[in-house]
Amino acid sequence: MTDPTTHTPTTALADVQARIAAAAHEAGREPATVHLIAVSKTFGPEAILPVIEAGHRLFGENRVQEAKAKWPDLRVRFPDLLLHLIGPLQSNKTREAVALFDAIHTVDRPKIARAIADEQKHQCKRLKLFIQVNTGEEPQKAGIAPQEAASFLAHCRDDLSLEIAGLMCIPPQDEEPAVHFAFLAKLADELKLAELSMGMSGDFETAVAFGATYVRVGSAIFGAR
Ligand SMILES: *Cc1c(COP(=O)(O)O)cnc(C)c1O
Repeated sequence: MTDPTTHTPTTALADVQARIAAAAHEAGREPATVHLIAVSKTFGPEAILPVIEAGHRLFGENRVQEAKAKWPDLRVRFPDLLLHLIGPLQSNKTREAVALFDAIHTVDRPKIARAIADEQKHQCKRLKLFIQVNTGEEPQKAGIAPQEAASFLAHCRDDLSLEIAGLMCIPPQDEEPAVHFAFLAKLADELKLAELSMGMSGDFETAVAFGATYVRVGSAIFGAR
């Protein structure tokens, strides 16, 4: 365990990276195939800057408005930053989202897919896109139903010319995440999609064992929100 008196986002970042590398080795994977998204939602530049200065470049935010207030200045100072949207996207925020982010993990319905396609055309930009799958089939949860994933992917590709990189999921709180990670990995394999966005602070090592290529880790780096 890390000594709480010396626990800073920077030491926590190194700790999480070491745990990802160990989990990758354990699974017979190359650690470099797992990308760590440092989820900085609710934290300000004073918490984020030390992590950037430690060399980290990949960050995640879950709200467009919050990201818009925080990141443009940092991006000017650090042009090689990469910013991923990991939270739900409303269609009226698509223009700002496409302008601000390098990737969207939450493509989950035709209306959003079309809005992203239109904006990408307008802005001459191509983001890395993930389809969010509601693996727990929870009624209130975002994400496409697993049985609709194949047809939604075909719609994104064939009708909208969107390039989809992979799948994303957020397992239900009270269920074993491994079941959902295994399921998402199998679905991505069937759909021949390379990227898997899964795993958070409490379960990223399990996600790596099941093939995650992007883990989204917030509180284990920045502390409790
Ligand atoms: C906040 C958030 C995370 C990070 O959660 P932690 O438990 O703090 O690591 C990951 N994914 C999504 C979609 C989130 O909203």
